[in-house]
Amino acid sequence: MLWVAAMSELARPALSVVAPCYNEQEVLPEFLRRVGTVLDAAGGTAEVVLVDDGSRDGTWDVMTAAAAADPRIVAVRLMRNHGHQLALTAGLSVCRGERILIIDADLQDPPELLPDMMALMNQGADVVYGQRRQRDGESLFKRATASGFYRLINRLTDVDIPADAGDFRLVTRRVLDLLLAMPERHRFFRGMVAWIGGRQVPLHYDRHARVAGESKYPLSKMIRFAADAITAFSVVPLMASMTIGWVMAAVGFGFFLYSIIGWLMDANLPGWTSIMAALGLLGGMQFLMLGIIGAYLGRLYDQSKQRPLFMIRDIVGGPK
Ligand code: UDP
Ligand code: MG
Repeated sequence: MLWVAAMSELARPALSVVAPCYNEQEVLPEFLRRVGTVLDAAGGTAEVVLVDDGSRDGTWDVMTAAAAADPRIVAVRLMRNHGHQLALTAGLSVCRGERILIIDADLQDPPELLPDMMALMNQGADVVYGQRRQRDGESLFKRATASGFYRLINRLTDVDIPADAGDFRLVTRRVLDLLLAMPERHRFFRGMVAWIGGRQVPLHYDRHARVAGESKYPLSKMIRFAADAITAFSVVPLMASMTIGWVMAAVGFGFFLYSIIGWLMDANLPGWTSIMAALGLLGGMQFLMLGIIGAYLGRLYDQSKQRPLFMIRDIVGGPK
């Protein structure tokens, strides 16, 4: 058993390329060709982990044929469509490399940036993330919603999630192991990487249009993605009821006083006082109580994510 562990440790390739694929049969051959060229030029041991996320086209056949022809290629198939983030997680838990390149299969992110990313990592980066300078072939709507989304999430959360960065990035094994140790179900990958910290360095590049096929992110999926991102990193929406609660409690108490004073001065219609006093007080109190529940629920939610309390980047020195 120990021997097996030692062997697999020895057999760790220097680099893993991990790409989730959903109905990508048109682009996969070109993707593998370009990645292969990059890996050949880079030298060193490498593997390419392709995850078939329940595709309904010929993606799996393309993958298995490629894996048969090239020992570097590992094909992984999921039981059904799990969505991009979970397909990626599956690939990441299978890969064995010392460094891991995460890339989409549609060639929107050029694999040719690998040498530059490697160079930045050689200088001590834990994460090198691609940051887009321009986005070809994406609608104004997609660009506008994306930029609004990053502004919103950075206001609501206390992790600095870089704008215009997708999941295209090179990470160290250390960072990957920390990521895989996070058991949360709704994974907002780029937020989780940002949350880990360490030295994270951007690499600017121009994002191209898809080589073939179409985006699998329609508006409905984008909204769900945004909701996952915000709720995974922020309980601000939950706590918002607390703020509203204080305001409503104050307004309600004002109404209560106003109606009582009116009653004392005999200026109220019969029955009005009791209704308004009860409405004001109860309405305000209810909002406040909802806020308090939100505060506890938010903390419970944070705890239930079971993230590690701290993460050590490395330890130098000490007993050998
Ligand atoms: N993808 C996936 N499962 C899905 C949707 C997408 O594995 O349910 C993959 C897809 O094959 C691609 C990557 O995730 O490699 C990004 O998807 P896409 O290009 O459609 O998103 P966009 O670039 O338009 O945001
Ligand atoms: Mg794409």
